[in-house]
Amino acid sequence: MSGETAFSAPLQTDTLGANAGLRLRRRRLLFKIAFFALFVLAPPLDIFRFDLEKNNLILFGMDWTLGFPEYRAGLISLGQLTWNLVWKAMLPVLGTGILLLWVAWRWGRLYCGWLCPHFSVVEAVNALMLRASGRPSLWEKAPLPRERADGSRRPLSRWYWIATIAAILGFAFLWAVSFLTYLLPPREIYHNLLHGALTPNQTRFLVAATVVLAIEFAFARHLFCRFGCAVGLFQSLAWMANRKAMVVGFDRRRAGECKACNNACDNACPQRLKPRTLKRKMFTCTQCSECIVACSQVEARRGKHSLLKWVDGKYAQHKINGK
Ligand code: SF4
Ligand code: SF4
Repeated sequence: MSGETAFSAPLQTDTLGANAGLRLRRRRLLFKIAFFALFVLAPPLDIFRFDLEKNNLILFGMDWTLGFPEYRAGLISLGQLTWNLVWKAMLPVLGTGILLLWVAWRWGRLYCGWLCPHFSVVEAVNALMLRASGRPSLWEKAPLPRERADGSRRPLSRWYWIATIAAILGFAFLWAVSFLTYLLPPREIYHNLLHGALTPNQTRFLVAATVVLAIEFAFARHLFCRFGCAVGLFQSLAWMANRKAMVVGFDRRRAGECKACNNACDNACPQRLKPRTLKRKMFTCTQCSECIVACSQVEARRGKHSLLKWVDGKYAQHKINGK
């Protein structure tokens, strides 16, 4: 391989040492916790929700109305209504979509790996299932090696099934309650929940949503991220369209070092991808960096830096054409 296409020459940034890898992981964890909190708290804090009773959006405490009742009452003209539709509905939706796609085009599915509350559930359930069964999902063919990237031994105990099932049900219930508060006044929902006074419809919604979400979190969480989520799919398509986009690069000139490794990068991938392969085989990569962190830990034990790191521009070519 020529030095220009191998990502190690000339380097855009230093490859990761183990400490930098751990800092990266901590930073991502903070992003995930903050966004998960926002997902749950946005309705009760009136940051963002749709109020079915008022039939309008609430945004940062203000009613975000389009003016249909006012138009029907003859208080505003058709022109004013159209203008409201354009700047209050179409522009914000279009703007958000374009921003998401532009970020994905340049840097991949950062939203998925660093913010998405569903991916936080994927990773949390993976970690617990791994401790309970040795496999990060029920569909994994063989157990993963007990030796972790940092050389420690992963705990393995059937007792973790209790924590796994509790986490699946807990996340499912929390999501169900959150969904309901995006549609109905959060104060009423939380009050009814705390006082055991939910209406029959509210109870039916919570039970049905918790069951459906629990099944998805237990059996199909990866499937959903790969094929079921439109937000993820369109980010992947935008990312694949840009041959120079940021991608996890692999320094193949040092590939011999992998022989003494238990495929720690593959084992660490929450999406169950193989980070050393071509980009088209990593269609659903979420840029979570877990593979990079794992390799930085493996290599730190040998006094070296990671073979994997993010690259872009011409340094991303080896992930497109294999050269
Ligand atoms: S390939 Fe690496 S960055 Fe992509 S999802 Fe897997 S672990 Fe995360
Ligand atoms: S790239 Fe790093 S973590 Fe992956 S197999 Fe090679 S040495 Fe191990």
